[in-house]
Order: sequence, then C-alpha cells, then structure tokens
Amino acid sequence: MTTLDTDTLEMVLTTLRDYAAKRLKPEYLRELDERDEFPHDVLRDLYDPEKFGLHLIFIPEEYGGLGGGAYDVYRVSEQMARIDLGIATGVLATFLGTDPIVVGGTEEQKAHWMGRIASEGLLVAYGATEPQAGSDLGTLTTRAVPVEEDGKIIGYKITGRKQWISNGGVAKLYTILANAPGGISWFVMEAGQPGFSYGKPEDKHGIRASNTAALFLDEVFVPVENLIGGVEGQGLAQAQAVFGYTRLMVGSFGLGAGWAALERAIRYSQTRVQGGGLLSTKQAYTHKLLVPNAVHLEASRAYIEWVAERIDGGDPDQQTEGAVAKYFATESGNKAAEDAIQALSLIHI
Ligand SMILES: Cc1cc2nc3c(=O)[nH]c(=O)nc-3n(C[C@H](O)[C@H](O)[C@H](O)COP(=O)(O)OP(=O)(O)OC[C@H]3O[C@@H](n4cnc5c(N)ncnc54)[C@H](O)[C@@H]3O)c2cc1C
Repeated sequence: MTTLDTDTLEMVLTTLRDYAAKRLKPEYLRELDERDEFPHDVLRDLYDPEKFGLHLIFIPEEYGGLGGGAYDVYRVSEQMARIDLGIATGVLATFLGTDPIVVGGTEEQKAHWMGRIASEGLLVAYGATEPQAGSDLGTLTTRAVPVEEDGKIIGYKITGRKQWISNGGVAKLYTILANAPGGISWFVMEAGQPGFSYGKPEDKHGIRASNTAALFLDEVFVPVENLIGGVEGQGLAQAQAVFGYTRLMVGSFGLGAGWAALERAIRYSQTRVQGGGLLSTKQAYTHKLLVPNAVHLEASRAYIEWVAERIDGGDPDQQTEGAVAKYFATESGNKAAEDAIQALSLIHI
C-alpha cells in the first residue's frame, strides 16, 4: 500500500513517464551510454522542486518532502529503471546517501540537512566503500581525527580514500564513513571543501549514465555538528539499519529493467513473422523466452511488495528479506534481459 495518497503516487509516475517520453528518448539514452555521460541537466530537472521534485518522495513531510514510504520508493525505482538504469542510479543514489542522516541523525541534523536537500534539490553520495574495504566495512582505514579548541572537540579532519561512489563526482553533499577514536562513524561533508577531490568517472560495463568515482580526502575539515547522531561509533549499526530499505530499491531496479527488456521482446514477437506465423504464436518461443520471465518478475514483485508493506507497517528490520528481494528480483531481471536478447536475435553458429 502506498504511504503517499494513491493519486499523488500515480501523478508522480505519470509525470515521470511523460517526461521520459519527451526528454529521454532511446536515441538520447544510447548517446549517453556511448559517451559514458552523466546527464546533469536531466538530474537538475528531476530534482527541481518547482518542476518535478522527484527527491521529495523519500524526504519526510516534516522536512519539506512528500514522506513516501518503501512501497512508493519501490514504484518510483521500478519506473526509473524502466527508463534507464544509469539515470535511476543517479537519482536514487541521493536516497542512499541520505539514509545515514535519516536513520542516525539527531532531530536538528535531520531538519537541517533533509530540509536543505528538499529545498535546494541537492545530489547526495554515500561514501562507504574503500579500495580494500567493500563487503567488510569494518576494515576501512579512512580516519577522522578530532580537532580540539580549549579542550573541546570542534570538528574532525578526515583523511582517506573512497572507491566506486555513485554520484561521487557530481554530488553537492556526501555522507562519509570514517574511523573516529570512538569507532566507525558517519559524517556529512559538503562538496568543495579544501582537501577534497574526486577521480574521473569509472568506465563501466553498464549503467553508464551514472557517475561512479573515487573520492580523495586529505585532512578535510568537518564541524562537530556533522558527526551523524552526535556520538562516535554508531556508523556500522546505522549502515546496517537501512539495508532492508535500500536492497528493496535495488530489487525494484531489477524488476523495472527486466520488464522493460521483456516488453521490447514481446512487442517484437507480435510483428516478426518466422516459420509462417508471428513469433508470438509459437510456444517454443513464448514458453522458453517470454513466459517464464514474466512469471519470475511478477513473483519478484509480489515479494518486493510484501517486504515494502512490512517496512511501511513499522518493522524496518528487514535486512534478510530485503536481501532475498534484491537477489530474486535482480536475478530475474538479468535473466529477462538475456532472454530478450535471444528473443530479438539468436546467433546461429
Ligand atoms: C556501479 C557501482 C556503484 C557503487 N556505488 C557505491 C556507493 O554509492 N557507495 C558505496 O559506498 N559503495 C558503492 N559501491 C561499492 C559496492 O558497495 C561494493 O562493490 C561492494 O560493497 C562489494 O565490495 P568490493 O567491490 O570491495 O568486493 P569484495 O568485498 O572484494 O568482494 C568480491 C567478491 O567476493 C565475495 N566475498 C566478499 N567477502 C566474502 C566472504 N567473506 N565470503 C565469501 N565471499 C565473499 C563478494 O560477494 C564478491 O563476489 C558501488 C559499486 C559499483 C560496482
């Protein structure tokens, strides 16, 4: 069930579809992919509170957002992924980036940062992974060294390197996971600080319209107010707490991208004549390449919706269920995309 009212959610999805039909045509998306280019102007449109304000979906109402829940985020993520997975990643990385604030921030921090993200349409990046610390974040080496004045901590100097950060080279705000004396902690960092730089965009195999970059931090100062939650050592628990939610979002990407590929194959089968009839009338084709994928994708949807309803019903502790949704839906999406390639053209060797 939607947390937003149904009309608002449907209006968002329709506006998104209309925008994509006009502005994000397949030729343009292919060009972005070929040029490995992040479409700044598209993201500006989508985040402009006057025009679109897509980011407002996941910002609570008290901070100027629309207060959507997990179900709403799943529907928007699926729709975005149907359009382009790279752009979807750019849009939704902000959601990931704000998670540490939403889960672990003090009331004051939430009001300040979420309020700014809502009104200024800021792109956010989530900086956890390091070259040697991916699956096992406990081994990260980025350090946050306290800066004291008159015996009181007034801030931290952060030094280290982050790797493969979505929106890394384009964000205005970063949440950075670093080792403080009291343990691993999240910090909010604004772009353009002295000592901060980022690498060139990674030349990826897919989702090429998303920006993925390394971050370099050399004694970047952040004021003590930017320590999320105000207490050191809460970082890993805060990162863990949002996995149910974020895994659901990635699962929805698999669902949307898989359906987009499958629908293309279905349309093709309804016009392509082979062996004296339309491919859509041949069961050897439909029951191998199309039907099983529709079944798997819709089973993924049912599971995603079940997890979303549990989260929205007040049980955010859905890390395992989120992982099941992510695994099943992304595997189903991938298989649908592979079969769609076969459905359009089988190479006989
Ligand atoms: C396109 C893209 C965007 C990304 N965006 C972000 C982002 O915005 N922010 C961010 O912080 N990170 C981001 N990441 C990083 C991502 O979260 C990491 O890639 C992920 O955490 C895995 O870490 P790793 O790449 O170091 O792989 P590794 O941890 O080195 O894992 C390599 C392989 O070993 C397996 N493995 C690892 N540990 C074990 C174990 N104990 N037992 C058995 N198998 C194991 C893994 O499953 C994997 O198959 C992004 C990555 C990509 C590719």
